[in-house]
Amino acid sequence: MPYKLVVLIASTALAALFAGGAVLSLQQHDNRLKLQLETQAVRLQSIYEVSMDELEHEARALAYNMAADPEIARILGEANHFLRAGGESNDARAVELRAALTAKLDLQWQDMHRMFDLRQFQFLLTPDLRSFLRFHATERYGDSLMELRPMMRSIQSDRIPRSGFEIGRAFAGIRGGAPVIRSYADGHTAPVDAQQAGETGEHVGTLEVGIGIDGLLKRLSEKLDIGIAVLLRPERVTQAMWSLYQPATRAPERSNCCFLLSASRPEAAAWLAAALIGRGKPEPESWLQTWEQKRFQVIRFPLFDFLGKQNPARPPAGSILIWRNAETELTAHTKARSITLRNAFAGYALVQLIVLLLLNLSRREWKRQLDLQTAAISRLSQQNALLLNTAGEGIYGVEPNGVTSFINPAALTMLGYTAAQVVGVNQHRLFHHHHADGSPYPDEACPIFQTLHDGKRRSCEDWFIRADGTAFPVAMTVAPIDDGDQQGGAVVVFRDISELKEQREALLQLATTDSLTGASNRRQFLERLDEELARLKRKGGTASILMADLDHFKHVNDTHGHAAGDAVLKHFVEIVRQTLRKTDVIGRLGGEEFAILLPGDGIEGARDFAERLCEAVKTSPSSFERTPIPISVSIGIASLNTRDGSAEASLQRADKALYDAKKAGRDQVRIHTPGESGTGRATPEAAR
Ligand code: GH3
Ligand code: MG
Ligand code: MG
Repeated sequence: MPYKLVVLIASTALAALFAGGAVLSLQQHDNRLKLQLETQAVRLQSIYEVSMDELEHEARALAYNMAADPEIARILGEANHFLRAGGESNDARAVELRAALTAKLDLQWQDMHRMFDLRQFQFLLTPDLRSFLRFHATERYGDSLMELRPMMRSIQSDRIPRSGFEIGRAFAGIRGGAPVIRSYADGHTAPVDAQQAGETGEHVGTLEVGIGIDGLLKRLSEKLDIGIAVLLRPERVTQAMWSLYQPATRAPERSNCCFLLSASRPEAAAWLAAALIGRGKPEPESWLQTWEQKRFQVIRFPLFDFLGKQNPARPPAGSILIWRNAETELTAHTKARSITLRNAFAGYALVQLIVLLLLNLSRREWKRQLDLQTAAISRLSQQNALLLNTAGEGIYGVEPNGVTSFINPAALTMLGYTAAQVVGVNQHRLFHHHHADGSPYPDEACPIFQTLHDGKRRSCEDWFIRADGTAFPVAMTVAPIDDGDQQGGAVVVFRDISELKEQREALLQLATTDSLTGASNRRQFLERLDEELARLKRKGGTASILMADLDHFKHVNDTHGHAAGDAVLKHFVEIVRQTLRKTDVIGRLGGEEFAILLPGDGIEGARDFAERLCEAVKTSPSSFERTPIPISVSIGIASLNTRDGSAEASLQRADKALYDAKKAGRDQVRIHTPGESGTGRATPEAAR
């Protein structure tokens, strides 16, 4: 793999690793911020809801306390009886009772209006919820609120105090109500059905209070450092409220939202005007809002009125909007993100630098090692080339398919080819295709071919054929090339052993022949005799042996000199050779004594041969320095016997016959008769 690719892969992997880590960290920061904002949203909604519950609870408690006053119950009871008896709301009696009620509670109403934002305070009469006295609008009375006040209807039916958010004709806010019960103990008589039901008092009317929510919003806003607003759905406002009392601020029509009932800070009105606030969702929501270079977290959740709380299917009356300055968290978040990114980048840069440094160092080390090894290989291949080019031996390589892969100069010189003629060519077919005697040399018998097949090393002697067609003997070693599992071919090392072979043959000649006459020496002759005896024992047949000794040879030496004696010896062997067959052997056993082996000949044949020899020696005298030297020879004959332990035995028998011939006067042939011991006896036919 190229170094640049390694660097690229390592760098990309590192960058991906750090980028992945950074993305995870950033996600963690984002999740932390999200969790912080969600926690804030839940906390603020809970605080709002608890505070609103408290306010509703206060409204119920207030109504209950005031309704429990016996004097108020008495006055309202009187009014109730008067009107039920047919009186009118503006009759003198009714006016008198209203005045009495006003006198009793007016101061209290004024104080509560001022201090606790008590906005509505009125008495309704049983059973048709007719308004008897409105402290907040004393001039209006006598109308029935039966249709308008579901909360009051409920109180009238079960006499349980209640409170909740309501949008009325002139007021939207917290309403609370409690029944006004006039006790029968204060003197008036209970009706029969009430007596039977065991009631202790008469339900004469209901006290209703309305508390504005501005105060609550203001307190929450200050305590929690938040903005808070109540938004009302437009259809709910227009359905319920007289237009005179509808909230002043309304979002543009296209936003489909909302009337701003109350807000602790100005942003809500501005956002409404800018149509940044929509209709709202049924579930709580929270988002970030940038406004006038500030970033706010805005929380919004639905506002259910009194009926909505009892019936969740009823659409909400509006929503509560809470917003808080989220600059601190957002700035911290942005800072944490940028620190993370900076750290990730710095870490990446550092690690990248270290990795590059390490890669570079190891690359240098690799390169150094490579250079060392390349130099070593180059040295080795120079040495190899030198070795190949200067070696006296012929060396060539053979591929598994028998084709020559290389060849050295010594081999080319010996073979008489050029490298171009040999390399790439099947070596066996080129210079190994025939044996020295001209017979074909099949591939399978070739030792190089065998090594290529069995992978075994071989050393042997063989013949190669030169380019000019002449053959020369070689000693060769075939070594397989180990190439792991595969056969990698072979290397052949050879040398020309022509001279060696000649020297060997000369030595053999020296060791086996008599140097004067060229006949086999005694040792060689005895070996041949043993071989012949073994052959006879194996295959049967006959063979004869002759012992020949020149007569009076001493005399020749004495008369003509030793050199003349030598010449006579050579001359004798020459004569014997002329009569010998190819298979016959002559050996010089010592001095002027010779033995002749005639394989295949019986005694008769041997005698013929011996007599012809005697004749030939006699009739062709030797000459030395132009002086004729007549000679004769005595011959003893014996046959080779398969019962003999060794060839020496037959030789001894022939020697005995020779002795007889000498004794009988020389220049004659004697035959050893088988079965006789002692000196033997010459046959009468052979005697001369
Ligand atoms: P006989 O007929 O009984 O065989 O008599 P002879 O003289 O041939 O036999 P003898 O054993 O008395 O003599 C053999 C002689 O041959 C003696 C020796 O000097 C001679 N002689 C042996 N070897 C050589 C040789 O290599 N060259 C020559 N010139 N003479 C040899
Ligand atoms: Mg002799
Ligand atoms: Mg002799």
